[in-house]
Amino acid sequence: MCLNKLKDIIKNSNNIVFFGGAGVSTESSIPDFRSENGLYKTVNNYSYSPEVMLSHSFFVNHTEDFFDFYKNKMIYKNAKPNKAHYFLAELEKRGKLKAIITQNIDGLHQKAGSKNVLELHGSIYKNYCVNCNKIYDLNYIINSSSLIPRCLNCNGIVRPDIVLYEENLNSDILRESINYIKNADVLIVAGTSLVVYPAANLISYYKNNKLVLINKSSTPYDKKANFVFHDSISKILSEIYQA
Ligand code: ZN
Repeated sequence: MCLNKLKDIIKNSNNIVFFGGAGVSTESSIPDFRSENGLYKTVNNYSYSPEVMLSHSFFVNHTEDFFDFYKNKMIYKNAKPNKAHYFLAELEKRGKLKAIITQNIDGLHQKAGSKNVLELHGSIYKNYCVNCNKIYDLNYIINSSSLIPRCLNCNGIVRPDIVLYEENLNSDILRESINYIKNADVLIVAGTSLVVYPAANLISYYKNNKLVLINKSSTPYDKKANFVFHDSISKILSEIYQA
């Protein structure tokens, strides 16, 4: 696929929307837990899949194991943005990129300087008490002396503001994401296999003819896309950047 053509499209548009999945963060050494085959052995020596451990019912019924998994496997506080994150932040600064819609919870787009980031699955940086809704930052979770972080006000459980399996997406964020996609001139979709809800569903709102897919493996949308790159996201984006 012709990189020069993609360069032109980006150069000539001031209404680009980016939709990103786990593949955007794997280049910052954050593993995609879905592609990790290993089961996680909890403190109680039961083995569960990550999908089970990140479900609402697991959080409720096995709260200690949930936090054991979450703190060990889901928090990457020292991860650094990669070239893709910086490229997107620069596009926004130049007034070309309208929004980043991400399925990642690592906050790396904001670390790279992006302002309008719609976090479909929430963020590890936001946490709240399930009883009184008091807000806590990431350090509070990391530094909590007990495995289960507790609220200073009411001793309630402080949970991450991320969307667990069996939980609904935030409807405001979803609505806003759909609006950006509907009205986008260029839609760049990267680092997602587009098989898991809501990704596949969201892409169907795009009505224009500049759909760009960047993913290491093929996706069910490859045929519908106008440009397909089976390559590293940061490599493709940084090659455009240098032009
Ligand atoms: Zn509380």
